[in-house]
Amino acid sequence: MKNRMYPFGYNCENGEIKVNEYEAAVVRMIFSEYDRGGSLKQIVSILNKGAISFNSDGSLWDKCKLYRLLMDTRYVGDKLYPPIVEIDLFDRVNSARESKYVEVTPASEEIKFLQNKITCSKCGSHYVREINKKGEHYWRCAHSCCRVKPTDGYILSSIYSVMGKVVRDRNLLNNSVTTTCYSPTPDIVRMNNEFRRVEHQCGYEVAKTLLFQIASAKFSICKEDKSIYTNNLYEKIRASHKSGKLNVQQLKDIVKEVRINEKGRVDVMFMNGAIVEGEEELYAGKVGN
Ligand SMILES: [Zn+2]
Repeated sequence: MKNRMYPFGYNCENGEIKVNEYEAAVVRMIFSEYDRGGSLKQIVSILNKGAISFNSDGSLWDKCKLYRLLMDTRYVGDKLYPPIVEIDLFDRVNSARESKYVEVTPASEEIKFLQNKITCSKCGSHYVREINKKGEHYWRCAHSCCRVKPTDGYILSSIYSVMGKVVRDRNLLNNSVTTTCYSPTPDIVRMNNEFRRVEHQCGYEVAKTLLFQIASAKFSICKEDKSIYTNNLYEKIRASHKSGKLNVQQLKDIVKEVRINEKGRVDVMFMNGAIVEGEEELYAGKVGN
């Protein structure tokens, strides 16, 4: 693929940079779609479906190209480049983009916590932490089934941003896949014993009534335990998110497991078993830029 000489939206004519009106309309569409809440993924698919190629050789759009385009300050105009996007729209889009990502600096304790907590969503292997020739640490799937190599900071920041999602929509904590531990109360044990003692002596109606009582007692403790626990968890998530950082104690209280997919998306399994998906576009924008 050949590189563009000028940012998408511009051409050079007789040594002067001019707006390419066709491409500029696409740039404005991209900004307004993002401003309306469209994700990078959605916008990429609009662009590629519409056969609007990024380059004259017909190369496709991807999230990295889009992310860089949204950050490019030349679109509001400077000494060389005439403006394409209004400054208000540009600022609004970029503060929305930045608010999806908060830098979290990891300390050694947090890294220790992440060991054995991260698995690969694709193959189920553990993630291992390694160091490259430049002395930078990164994580990868132990089976190397995919090529993503997230850093400590990226993983922690992504966990933080998933927590933000939960703060905005607490119902996300209700999609728990594992059931909470059930332990029978003394009342339930007593009813069970009584039922076993009388089941061959009493009539059908009595047995039925006893069974319903046992079932309803079991059901009520399950439900109650779970909601109290989830409320408590929500409060912890909210407090940690508000504090703007993520220390090891907060992680231990909140995060049960972390899963990373082949596109670098970080999903978090919270302590109550609920899994909340992260956003792929964070990886596209931050790592390997
Ligand atoms: Zn894997």
